[in-house]
Amino acid sequence: MNITITKTTAKKAKPDESALGFGKIFTDHMFMMDYSREKGWYDARIVPFENLSIHPASTVLHYGSEIFEGLKAYRKADGSVQLFRPIENIRRMNRSAERLCLPQLDENDALEALLKFVEVEQDWTPHSEGTSLYLRPFMFGNDESLGVHAVHNATYVIIASPVGSYYAEGINPVKIMIEDEDVRAVRGGTGYAKCGGNYAASNRAGERAEKKGYSQVLWLDGVERKYIEEVGAMNVMFKINGEIVTPMLSGSILPGITRMSCLEVLRKEGYKVSERLLSIDELEEAMENGTLEEAWGCGTAAVISPIGELCYKGKKYAVNNGEIGETTQYLYDTLTGIQWGKIEDTFGWTVQL
Ligand SMILES: *Cc1c(COP(=O)(O)O)cnc(C)c1O
Repeated sequence: MNITITKTTAKKAKPDESALGFGKIFTDHMFMMDYSREKGWYDARIVPFENLSIHPASTVLHYGSEIFEGLKAYRKADGSVQLFRPIENIRRMNRSAERLCLPQLDENDALEALLKFVEVEQDWTPHSEGTSLYLRPFMFGNDESLGVHAVHNATYVIIASPVGSYYAEGINPVKIMIEDEDVRAVRGGTGYAKCGGNYAASNRAGERAEKKGYSQVLWLDGVERKYIEEVGAMNVMFKINGEIVTPMLSGSILPGITRMSCLEVLRKEGYKVSERLLSIDELEEAMENGTLEEAWGCGTAAVISPIGELCYKGKKYAVNNGEIGETTQYLYDTLTGIQWGKIEDTFGWTVQL
C-alpha cells in the first residue's frame, strides 16, 4: 500500500506522564484514507492531527454509521514498542463493518497502515509503569446525502492518545449495578459490532448507576432480562465453585480480544472454563450460598478489572470480601506481563514495531 506521509511542522510538547488520564491528549499525526464504491480505498495518508471537515449531511451525523476499535502500543523495558494481537482488531473491525454496511478493509493493508502510523508516532508511547499509547481506528459512512441506504463513501481514520495507568492508585475492585431496565443489545442487532450507536444507547443506564455510586452496569440479555451479557464496555467472567464461567458469544455480546486471551490463558493453565448461558438466578444463588468466588471484567483499557460488589434489585453482595481474587490477579499479571514484555509471550500474540 502506498501511504503518503506529511509531517507536522509544529510538534507538540510531550505531556507529563503522571497526569495522562484517558483519551484527552492526542499525538502529532493521524492516519486517514477514503473510500468510494467506484475507487475502493484511496489516498492513504499520514497527516498532521487536525479537525475533520465533513458535509453537514454526512451519513454518520444522521444515521450513525460508525464503527471503531481500541488497542494499545506498549513500551518495553528495552525501549522498544510492541502491539498486542492487532490483527484481531482488524478482523473484528471487518465484522463490525459487515454488520453496518460499511466497506471491508484489506487485512494486510490495514495492519501495514497501523504499524506505519505507530512507527511515525512511537515517541508518543509513554515510558512510565502501566502507561501506553492507545490507538483508536474508526470508520464512518460519509455520503453527502440524506438518502437512507448502505453507504457509497466512507472514511477510515486512526488517531492515537498516550494514556495513563488504569490503576494509578492500585487495583481497586469496582462496584457494579445489575441493570434490569435498559438493555444494550439484542440478538440480530449490533451487539457484536463495535459501533458508536451501542454506546449512545448505553449511556443512560451508566449515568443512573454512577449516581448511585456504581462504576458500571452489568447488562442482562435484551429479550428476557435473565442472562448475563457483559459489564459496561468490558466482557465479564465469574469463578463459581472453581469453574470459570463467561457468557457465550450469542450475537449480542462484543467478542473481546481480552476475553479471548483470558480464555486461552486459563485453558492452557488447566482451569475448567465454560462459555455458556449464565442466568441472573444462578448468579444470585451463587452469591447467596457463597460459591461465587471471584468476578472480573476484561477489556483493553483496564485489562482486568476485579469486581468487589454486585447490586441487584437494591440488594448488595460483596464478592471475595471486596478484594481481588487469586485467578483475577493471575490473569492480570499474565496479560499485562505479556503486553509490556515483562514475561515471555509463549502465545505469539505480540507484534514488534
Ligand atoms: C471493546 C469492548 C469490549 C472489550 O473488547 P477488547 O477487545 O477486550 O478490548 C467489551 N465490550 C464492549 C461493549 C466493547 O466495546
